[in-house]
Amino acid sequence: MNAFVLAGRALRLRCPHCGGGDLFSSWLTMRDRCPSCDLHLEREEAGYVVGAYMFNVVAAELVGGALVMAVAIATWPTPPWDLLMYGGGGLMLVCPIVFYPFAKTLFLALDLAFRPRGAE
Ligand SMILES: [Zn+2]
Repeated sequence: MNAFVLAGRALRLRCPHCGGGDLFSSWLTMRDRCPSCDLHLEREEAGYVVGAYMFNVVAAELVGGALVMAVAIATWPTPPWDLLMYGGGGLMLVCPIVFYPFAKTLFLALDLAFRPRGAE
């Protein structure tokens, strides 16, 4: 399946495999299986959960770092250092929570791109 289709569905928090929704019972709780196609959402492989968490942390920190850099560059030569220091620290805490469901579905899409359903 096309990787862009998989990623597009994942970014809309839909099942990358079938496009069905309702993958999360809460913001931080992913269901075991897709309600539409019964895909096992945490695919059976050692380290899969850790990989999804690392994907989340790296993506969140990159976006948070990029936002801090953008503010510093936009306000140069007098960046608001206090705002950047405390705001940046807050972003590093908030971003992983905000990005969590997106990281889970994107990591699932990445996994499906390399290891399609049926190959597990
Ligand atoms: Zn599905």
